[in-house]
Amino acid sequence: MTPVLVTGGAGYIGSHACKALVRAGYLPVTFDSLVTGWRDAVKFGPLEQGCLMDRARLDEVFAKWRPAAVMHFAALSQVGEAMAQPGKYWRGNVCASLNLIEAAVAAGCLDFVFSSTCATYGDQDGVVLNEDSPQAPINSYGASKRAIEDMLRDFGAAHGLRSVIFRYFNVAGADPEGEVGEFHRPETHLIPLMLDAIDGKRPALTLFGTDYPTPDGTCIRDYVHVMDLVEAHVLGLKWLEAGRGSTVFCLGTGTGFSVREVVAASGSVTNRAVPIVEGPRRAGDAVALVSGSDRAVAELGWRPTRSTMAQMIGDAWRWHQTGNYER
Ligand code: UDP
Repeated sequence: MTPVLVTGGAGYIGSHACKALVRAGYLPVTFDSLVTGWRDAVKFGPLEQGCLMDRARLDEVFAKWRPAAVMHFAALSQVGEAMAQPGKYWRGNVCASLNLIEAAVAAGCLDFVFSSTCATYGDQDGVVLNEDSPQAPINSYGASKRAIEDMLRDFGAAHGLRSVIFRYFNVAGADPEGEVGEFHRPETHLIPLMLDAIDGKRPALTLFGTDYPTPDGTCIRDYVHVMDLVEAHVLGLKWLEAGRGSTVFCLGTGTGFSVREVVAASGSVTNRAVPIVEGPRRAGDAVALVSGSDRAVAELGWRPTRSTMAQMIGDAWRWHQTGNYER
């Protein structure tokens, strides 16, 4: 099996990517500090514990496994925290990724799949975004991811690094087979927080802003099922293997859901009431982020089959009721 180094393989998206990689015949080697990731989530290949800021540790892991490619998921990803602590994001995302990219180039591992984000676009007035939309991030999280995209392009030009950059929208759901799922501590994401409120683990879900210029006053996001998303990453790896060169793909469904619409869908999927309270806006939130995925569908052959709101909430709910990670 061809080894692929998966940074953040103990995290939400990375652990699902490891499952998809095994299915596609690769050996996912997780590189994770376990600061926000979970040892229990590493089920599909070996774990190399380490910090991306530790270049010697990275060199050791590249030498040991000689991975054919890197999938880079490890990142700090909370918009609210990024607004309050930009230094943490510039260091933890940009400096750490620079270390990783330099280590990959030094090891001659030149195929790189990168987890970027629609937060690199900033607020774009409700237009459906695509790969060519201008990037104007409004928070340090998006800015740090855009800087890494630039870094990948520069290393491509100078050192022959080949990268597939995925800018994704809101990732939701869980492995339908229940082996891995979403589990953050602290949790900040809409759907898991809502499921906590539904089963009484929290008193209520707070709606962050009800006065946005949208039909129901809440922010609009484009939600993609995590298994669909990681399958695109495997296709991105094959794209690089086929020598098709560096590129960018947006991964969304083209359909936006407001926070209130996600609340309503969660109520019907779980058949339970969702306790909500209205709160102020959260700093750094864009009004609406929706993407077309025409390019990923046409050129990559991506077929998102699970990204209905009902399946995403249903899979997340099943995981929520059974899944748990202990350190
Ligand atoms: N949101 C909310 N209450 C919460 C968490 C999130 O109203 O407790 C909103 C948030 O403002 C955003 C959407 O839900 O409009 C999705 O937020 P999330 O943090 O899940 O993902 P993000 O869009 O920040 O990547």
